[in-house]
This record gives sequence, structure tokens and C-alpha cells, in this order.
Amino acid sequence: MADPLRPTIFALSSGRPPAAIAVVRVCGPRARAALEKLIGRVPQPRQASLARVRDPENGDVLDEALALWFPAPHSETGEDMAELQIHGGHAVITAVLDALGRIEGCRPAEAGEFTRRAFENGRLDLTAVEGLADLIAAETPAQRRQAFRQLKGLIGDRAEAWRRTLIEALALVEARIDFADEGDVPDDLVGPALASVTRLREEIAAALADGRRGERLRDGIVIAIAGPPNAGKSTLLNRLARREAAIVSPYPGTTRDVIEVHMDFDGFPATLLDTAGLRQSDDPVEREGVRRAKERARSADLVLWVTDASAAGGAAGGKPRYAAGSDAWVVANKADLVGDKLCETGESRPTADRPQTFTISALTGTGVDGLVAALSTYARGYFATTESAIVTRARHRRALEETVAALDRCLAESPSGREELVAEELRAAATTLGRLTGRVDVEDILDVIFRDFCIGK
Ligand code: GDP
Repeated sequence: MADPLRPTIFALSSGRPPAAIAVVRVCGPRARAALEKLIGRVPQPRQASLARVRDPENGDVLDEALALWFPAPHSETGEDMAELQIHGGHAVITAVLDALGRIEGCRPAEAGEFTRRAFENGRLDLTAVEGLADLIAAETPAQRRQAFRQLKGLIGDRAEAWRRTLIEALALVEARIDFADEGDVPDDLVGPALASVTRLREEIAAALADGRRGERLRDGIVIAIAGPPNAGKSTLLNRLARREAAIVSPYPGTTRDVIEVHMDFDGFPATLLDTAGLRQSDDPVEREGVRRAKERARSADLVLWVTDASAAGGAAGGKPRYAAGSDAWVVANKADLVGDKLCETGESRPTADRPQTFTISALTGTGVDGLVAALSTYARGYFATTESAIVTRARHRRALEETVAALDRCLAESPSGREELVAEELRAAATTLGRLTGRVDVEDILDVIFRDFCIGK
């Protein structure tokens, strides 16, 4: 039963005003009373109803709204909920929120508090909560699809099924321990239990062996633009950023040395880094900046090594650096300065001693389309296997790695015949899976997870 003393919370759940429409949500034991006070009645459950919103104290009309009533437990949070769709002007919103604040037992919601209630009431498990946060933050179609799958239980349901399998195995082992001396308990309870544990271990290990694609999709692949000074790196970054209609959020000068631009290549997220500021310096602060920039470029998935094709050595002379663990392409720039005969723009296939090379002019744009098409293909290829990835956060990975470690200890212990120890490791594995979905012992991580939410969600 719902606790009648639990605070009723309310918030503007739609975006920043002014807007055509604003959605105000109310959740908790006083949600019904709030509707009665503001619109004088409670609409039919889950049916939109047109209503005058009035100030409960003096009866002044504040707005005309669509009102919705979602009685517990069939609401998003599992508690009584009301929703008012009002006009999205500042004064309208302020008046309605103000009126709600004057109703006894109602107070403004904290960030993520609606979702937290949904979690507490068992409407969402923790992985679904994270999926919801990712869905709200998603900037590209691929991120949206992954977040939606997670919201709908892709990892949560799987983890819960794994946990049930473990608990069944544990029950068999415990039966063997409890009734060891009794003749009517079959000797071999532990054998089948261990067989299913072995299968489960393989299944979880397979889910972990995903090249971290799911985690990577949340942030995007990292493409570093590097090369000698004045080769045209900044010009190229600007051109890439400008010609892509789908540029998401430019962060000019995130640091003094590296400029980051978030981009969308064919629906897949990428961060472009411009390391134009990289030069040797005697200033220790600047040197530290250069060191960091190089490190970031070194950990990039792909390095675009820009060279000045018109300079001595030009296209052929450029050898990508900072590319130890990364793929690297050479971008021979300033093709416009090189005679047509000397230089054809376009792409050349990599050979054993020559990386894939693109000849372009960042200034005029020649050849840039081909480079963008290749980047899209690269991003698509990078994320090709992501649709099956279920691990989207380091938290998931840690929990599953701990589970596998406990199962390994369990399987290593089994030949000893010490069934208590086998059972203990199975319990440990079930607990880590329970932490993943938030079934057990998660107080400490809740604040971290809900901190990502905005007010009204
Ligand atoms: P960075 O130091 O590598 O970032 O180089 P910049 O992007 O600052 O470019 C250095 C100079 O080269 C600038 O004067 C640019 O206008 C020029 N530049 C860049 N790309 C091209 C190009 O494709 N053709 C020509 N002609 N000039 C270019």
C-alpha cells in the first residue's frame, strides 16, 4: 500500500520554456487532491480531458489544459500520477507550479525523483533506469536504438534470467548439503548444477567479449586530426564540422590544446579532435598540454594524419605518428596548390608500406566528400557488431566480470567436494548479478545513477 505520508512531488517535465506546450507532472498520494483543487475534478483514468486550471485559493483561471489521471499502480512510477498539459509560457508555468506548491503535502521534485520512484516501486530495474538516462542523452540514431533496447530490458532481463539459473543451481547444491546423510536424496545433485553453471559462465563471458562496442557507442569513436604545423588540420576540422548538417555539439576550445567536435557519421557518433595546438614549447604548462593532447590522440580509434601536399615531401613524405594502437589514414591536403598533373584528388588504397591516403583540399572542399564517405563507412564498420552488445557501461562490465570470477572460483572448488564453498561462490555470483539490476544492496550507487537525470524525469 502506498504510504499516505510520502511527499507528493511535482515538476515541469517538458523542455525549457517558452514552448507551445508544457507538461507538468504530479506524483504521490496527494496527486488526486491536486487535480481536484486545480481543475475541480478527476478525469477518467488514462483519458485526456480538457479542463480550466484555477488557483485553488481565489479561483482565478490560470490556463486551459489537457488533464490526465493515471491511478496507481498503472502509472510510470507505480504511484498515483496526474499530468497537466498547459501552455508553455513562463508565467503560465510559474503560476501552475506555484499553485501546486501551495497544496499541502506537495513539493517540487528533485532531479530524477520520478524515475527513482519508478525504480523503488519495481517499475524499472537499474539497467532500465540507465537506459532511460541514455535515451534522453542520445544524440544519434544508433545511440537511441541502444538506449531503447536497454530501457526495454536487453541486459536487465538477461541478468535476471542468469540470476534465476544461479539460484536454481544453488538450491541443488544446498539440498545436497542439507540432506547429505539421507538415503532418498539422489547423490548427484551437484553434477547437473555445475553443468548449468559452466554453461552460464560461458554465456556471460561471451557477452563480455564484445570489444566494448556498447560502451563506446555511448561516447562515440574518437578520430584525431594530427600532422605537422600548418598542414591544414584546423581548416579540415572546420570544413568537416561545417559540411555535416548533423553536427551535434561543438565544444570550442575544451582545452587550449585540443578542440573537440561531436559529429554524427551516418547515425553513428564520433568525436573529432584537432591537435593543431601541438608544438614543442619550453613553457612547462604548455608542455603538459601538449603531452595530454598527444595522449588523447594516441588513444584515438583513427588518426587522420594531415600533410601539406604542396610542401617538399608532401603527400608521400607524411608518416602518421601518434598512431600506435590506432588506425591511421594520410590526408594529403592543399591539393589546390599542386598542379593537376602532379596530384589527383581522391582516395588511394593502402598498400603494405603506405596507409590509406586521401588527397583533398580543405580550403576548396575538393575530395572532402570522399573522405566523409570513408569516415561514415569506418564508423558503420566499427559499430557493426554493436546491435548485439548488451554491456553499455563500465558498471555492467564490472558486475559481470565479478560474476564470472565467482563462477570460476566455484568451478575450481567443485572437485574438492567442499559443497559449502561451492554454494558460497554461487551466492556471491547471484549477489553481483543482483547488484547489476539493483535487486540487492545498491544504496551506494543509486545517487550516482540518478544524478544524471534532469528535474521532471
Ligand atoms: P594547422 O596548423 O594544421 O591547423 O593548419 P591551418 O588549418 O591553420 O592552416 C594553415 C594554413 O594553410 C592556413 O593559412 C590555411 O588557410 C591554409 N590551408 C589549409 N588548407 C588549405 C588548402 O587545402 N589549400 C590551401 N591553398 N591552403 C590551405
